[in-house]
Amino acid sequence: MTLVYQSTRDEKNTVTASQAILQGLATDGGLFTPLTYPKVALDFDRLKEMSYQEVAKLILGAFLDDFTPEELDRCISKAYDSKFDDERIAPLVKLDGQYNLELFHGSTIAFKDMALSILPYLMTTAAKKHGLENKIVILTATSGDTGKAAMAGFADVPGTEIIVFYPKDGVSKVQELQMTTQTGENTHVVAIDGNFDDAQTNVKKMFNDECLRAKLEHKQLQFSSANSMNIGRLVPQIVYYVYAYAQLVKDGEIVAGELVNFTVPTGNFGNILAAFYAKQIGLPIGKLICASNENNVLTDFFQTKVYDKKRSFKVTTSPSMDILVSSNLERLIFHLLGNDAAKTAELMAALAVDGQYEVQPVDEALFGLFAAGWATEEETAQEIKRVYDHSRYIEDPHTAVASSVYQKYIADTKDATKTVIASTASPYKFPVVAVEAVTGETGWSDFAALEQLQNLSGVGLPQAVNGLETAPVRHRTVVAAEDMQAEVERYLGL
Ligand SMILES: *Cc1c(COP(=O)(O)O)cnc(C)c1O
Repeated sequence: MTLVYQSTRDEKNTVTASQAILQGLATDGGLFTPLTYPKVALDFDRLKEMSYQEVAKLILGAFLDDFTPEELDRCISKAYDSKFDDERIAPLVKLDGQYNLELFHGSTIAFKDMALSILPYLMTTAAKKHGLENKIVILTATSGDTGKAAMAGFADVPGTEIIVFYPKDGVSKVQELQMTTQTGENTHVVAIDGNFDDAQTNVKKMFNDECLRAKLEHKQLQFSSANSMNIGRLVPQIVYYVYAYAQLVKDGEIVAGELVNFTVPTGNFGNILAAFYAKQIGLPIGKLICASNENNVLTDFFQTKVYDKKRSFKVTTSPSMDILVSSNLERLIFHLLGNDAAKTAELMAALAVDGQYEVQPVDEALFGLFAAGWATEEETAQEIKRVYDHSRYIEDPHTAVASSVYQKYIADTKDATKTVIASTASPYKFPVVAVEAVTGETGWSDFAALEQLQNLSGVGLPQAVNGLETAPVRHRTVVAAEDMQAEVERYLGL
């Protein structure tokens, strides 16, 4: 039997995995979400000997069950190859009092590569399966990392175009240059005068605009999404939680069956939701600790069951988490309400109109899996310094938010469960913040900081930022947030 993926907003809107990947977002505005979970035999005696690719085969095979094993094999071996600068793909590093799961060894040195290196293969395979003749237009809003990782995956992939919108003043210099220097005839990068929420809201609007869909269809085009709203992003992210657990067993840090916590620096709630799905298929997880920066809407939600986006948007040193409308939380809400699409649709409408909603009553067992906390800018910088002083290891600011929240969590709860920190970016992506935090000196330029980071960390400059300073800038378009659709129509010649 094939797994059913249903829209979170309409119980009649159901598709298979490959259809969900092709569509990206449901046209009713909801997100395709599994209604039941596949049975996966998590035998850690076997899992601990498996490569990342073998674990991926097991998990993807279970969740993406209308792909053949051969199709998945091909996608996996093309995705997780020498693009990654570590053959373990997601190495687990033991530090003083925590384990850091390094998810930044792919081509853009952020965790988005974990899923975006495979999504183009899943999508083109799904297109072939369904005999799709249309060209797929990937429309993406990015808070800094998704855009580059999606383009790295989709650049010059036949049958696709990719358009990326990013907040002009909301990303780091390295992030911006990574995007504006992107090559590939099918790539288009647009800066907007606005923040990430503006970008994401307008992208969602375009997905739900029937008139625009008809115009696309007329030109044999159709949208899909590389954002974590696409289930093809979430499922590959389940893999590394299982892999990390297996490595802990292999290294003798835990015995199979022992509970482990994961702390996840969270923005759009995609990464932590993948951990939630890992728990649903039987991974022994104790707490999922949701870590936020000063945009702490999720911390408040887990304390009060009220989601209230009516607050000022803060630009922080962990820009990929500068989000007030956390898209994937909708999937958790749906599950907390016992997979009730009508009620979820009601709450999402309230969010759009009133800027808030309250979920009551919720499935307390599921809700209780989560703990939440947030870190100030100062705490984040202090945490980078603390970890460096203890372990000579430099965390990027997103990872440091998680690690700071974890420190506060243990101080509050005395929970001694072994804990893995999802380390979502290389410090080389945020060199100025990392170097300032460690040295206490300010005024570094991006490129001087890259040099200094090598001296401090003893880790060589990753390929992803090598040569960035001199690479030609190919994308210079800037538009107002309300002109995003006009720009899409212009670019596609609609
Ligand atoms: C995207 C991103 C996050 C947030 O992940 P979500 O899945 O959106 O919650 C955290 N850290 C980094 C470095 C990211 O790129």
